[in-house]
Amino acid sequence: MSEKYLIINAGSSSLKFSLYVMPEQVEIINGLVEKIGNNDSCYTLKFNNQKIEKDRIINNHTEAVKVMLEELISYNLIDGVEDIKGIGHRVLHGGEFYSNSVIIDDDVLSNIKSLTKLGPLHHPGEIAGIESMNEVLPTVPQVAVFDTAFHQTMPIENYMYAVPYDWYEENGVRKYGFHGTSHKYITEKMQSILNNDEINLIICHIGSGASISCIQNGKCIDTTMGLTPLDGLIMGTRSGTIDSSIIEYISKEKNLSIEQITSILNKNSGLIGIAGKNDFRDLENLANNGDRKAQLAIQMMKKSIIKYIAQYYFELGGNLDAIVFTAGIGENAINLREDLVKSLSNIMGIELDQEANNNISRYNSNQSGFISKPESKTKVIVLPTNEEYMILKDTYNLSKQLKEKNIKRY
Ligand code: AMP
Repeated sequence: MSEKYLIINAGSSSLKFSLYVMPEQVEIINGLVEKIGNNDSCYTLKFNNQKIEKDRIINNHTEAVKVMLEELISYNLIDGVEDIKGIGHRVLHGGEFYSNSVIIDDDVLSNIKSLTKLGPLHHPGEIAGIESMNEVLPTVPQVAVFDTAFHQTMPIENYMYAVPYDWYEENGVRKYGFHGTSHKYITEKMQSILNNDEINLIICHIGSGASISCIQNGKCIDTTMGLTPLDGLIMGTRSGTIDSSIIEYISKEKNLSIEQITSILNKNSGLIGIAGKNDFRDLENLANNGDRKAQLAIQMMKKSIIKYIAQYYFELGGNLDAIVFTAGIGENAINLREDLVKSLSNIMGIELDQEANNNISRYNSNQSGFISKPESKTKVIVLPTNEEYMILKDTYNLSKQLKEKNIKRY
């Protein structure tokens, strides 16, 4: 029998949702409630090839959930709330508590709350999403899927910073890594493509946020993002790794607070900081028209990607099954991929399949495939990521287990 599952991505003033029929994995509607708590709140629903937009005052997340359910019923997408068999939430930070997705109970919710200090921008909205679902649908299993979970297998020497040890013990200062749901999806997909569970990979998730993971024997042993998503690669608006002394220096020079500088490092640095644009397509256009700063920003980003690929190749002892490119830029920026592969080809023994590379992007008939030639020592592949599928899969499996074991959520 088909069952329906909701996937939720709650922000501080927004609620994004998709409803799926399982086990068929068919999405029947997705929607977005925006500006929750403002007097110009509104929402959009997309289903059956139509887009419906409505203005309505929505004071809080609980009201947003109620409006969403009303609409699902009014458009006959569910007969009643009892049709919903599980709810999956994307949660930013699982800290050291979680290396896998879990059913949300009181303890889990309290742990997510305690991690708000590590995810101050994301957790309040996510917690509001969980609590409001709990209020409106108290008997439906809720599942938390953490962006950090997949990276919990990193060895201690790779996740520690060389700062006083009590910063780790008392304040949780360590590398956690993010985009874990994407890195896990790609790892599982590659295990099935290469028919090898003990796979070694370098996964380049290059979107407006970007991170690279080093996978050994199917497990993450290192990743570029750190305590927060600010670390590692140069990104659309984030600086990536910098000398931390810059913070004190620029604070004095420009009379800025730590909060202001942190915000600039997250929102006005990276590609936009160097060249004034963070959309990679805009940057490529500018660079092609001779804009020196756009050329520099792309060059810097390429170098930062190459640096981590080289580091991880070394960490794997050269024992690498494939490099994977994924996310908006990785899946679509054909010229960037070509340049990266050419820079790595001599050392890593990669032979670029120029034609395959030219034909793979979201806008081509092929959206995935190998871009290295079959004789290449190291394989290179483009693979679209699918975080939503991972959240759905875990929500479905954990909700079913809960039901089968007849365990009460509370
Ligand atoms: P994401 O955050 O994964 O959605 O990725 C967004 C990034 O992908 C933006 O910087 C886009 O400019 C970039 N992107 C999307 N399509 C292309 C393309 N055809 N060529 C280059 N970059 C692209």
